[in-house]
Amino acid sequence: MFCRNCGQKIEDGMMFCPNCGTKAAFERMSAPAPEPEPAPEPEPAPEPEPEPRPVRISDPAPVYTKGTNGLAVAGFICSFFFPFVGLVLSIIGLSIADTGYQKPMRGLAIAGIIISAVLLVLRVALGALIGSLILPHIRELFESLFSYLNTVIRAA
Ligand SMILES: [Zn+2]
Repeated sequence: MFCRNCGQKIEDGMMFCPNCGTKAAFERMSAPAPEPEPAPEPEPAPEPEPEPRPVRISDPAPVYTKGTNGLAVAGFICSFFFPFVGLVLSIIGLSIADTGYQKPMRGLAIAGIIISAVLLVLRVALGALIGSLILPHIRELFESLFSYLNTVIRAA
């Protein structure tokens, strides 16, 4: 602290000013408490920039130039009887579903794809199963046929 009379620096703990003898304790008591450092004002969080509102451009009303997506319908029906044809037609039908059909029949096309795919797999699996069951018998049949022919030829 400093002497309030002459301004001399007074060490802490000293009772009197070493220069002029003024009581230091008095000054100390009356000295205004050091003002607490003002807490730094918290910087205000930068306000987030308001997102520019996307200008809403209303989609132009879809123009339906075609009626029903017949390919999707055909693919769906074919999927039950001719799975391969049904699969191809349904895939094409789905791919053209968004080209301006009033009734795009997307669900029907997807159903046709699933049904024909499942039936194709089943058909292949069934074919393999039947083949594995029948083939040995066909071989037996041929073997007995050959042995029969052999006996016929020898007898001749
Ligand atoms: Zn002094």
